[in-house]
Amino acid sequence: MTKSILPKKILYWYDNNKRSLPWRKKLSQVKREYYTLVSEFMLQQTQVVTVVPYFNNFVKDIPNISSLAKFNEHKLLKYWEGLGYYSRVRNLKKTAQILEKDFKGRLPSTIEELKLLPGIGEYTANAIMAIGFNKPFIPLDGNIERVIKRLLNLKLISEISKENLISKKKILGTSIRASDYAQALMELGALICRPKTPLCSQCPLTKNCKSFKNDDFEIIKERKKKIDKFYLLNIYKKNDKFLLIKNIKFSFLKNLKIFPMDEIPKYNNIKKDLNFKISNINMNIIVQFTKINESIPNSYWVDSTKLDSYTLPTFTKKIFSYLEKN
Ligand code: SF4
Repeated sequence: MTKSILPKKILYWYDNNKRSLPWRKKLSQVKREYYTLVSEFMLQQTQVVTVVPYFNNFVKDIPNISSLAKFNEHKLLKYWEGLGYYSRVRNLKKTAQILEKDFKGRLPSTIEELKLLPGIGEYTANAIMAIGFNKPFIPLDGNIERVIKRLLNLKLISEISKENLISKKKILGTSIRASDYAQALMELGALICRPKTPLCSQCPLTKNCKSFKNDDFEIIKERKKKIDKFYLLNIYKKNDKFLLIKNIKFSFLKNLKIFPMDEIPKYNNIKKDLNFKISNINMNIIVQFTKINESIPNSYWVDSTKLDSYTLPTFTKKIFSYLEKN
């Protein structure tokens, strides 16, 4: 495989096929940094099409790092409602506060400094270096991983390990258009080298692709172990109002409003009422109506006829819709 030819082919395809996205507009360097920061936080765990309206709404009302650093946290959660993984928006605000205090409201342009900021790990730091600063970094997201796996037809568990994929990134080469190149690779993975049905007839890389040559497009993934957990969820009801608590107990949905619940031991043949997945936790939930005997700290009575006026995670909303139907 000729290393240097890939960036040229992929960028040519990208220039003619890329989606028009708000963070891809022509922007000043300051705006580019801010748009990259916000979009990359939103895109962690969430697809582009879902993110676009949230991103537009967010940057319209919170246009820069300085306004984000000062923005009321409760109101900020409203801009994230429905995107899930709320720790991202809290970390985003904390990062903005550090940038405002220590970096004059700008992003640092070294990978080491970026990785010290809340919510910025290896992937996001690489994405910011490439997209925000046009430096020759390639962020290894699921789309780019898939392109590498298919180009090299990687199948063995040892071949698809993160370390091996990082070392194989070099086959993609680099470009002086580093920002466009990182986005072009992601775009190619998202639109053409799709997980189930790659559109090889539209791909610029057929001549370089071992999967295409072998007519074998199966993608092998490293399995994340699923954990089964059981919870007893208590419903306290007063007319149309339900009692919710601020979650300080569980590591998921931290500080958000949830129904009071406890983790219980795993039972076989238990009749669960609801099932919900958060990350790799498969939550089996048993719902019980309970009488309130004592005051519950950090609790709120939430009017079920006015749910839109509260900031609630999808998890809590799903339980409200279950209650409505049952
Ligand atoms: S030729 Fe097909 S399998 Fe290979 S990179 Fe392109 S879309 Fe993916």
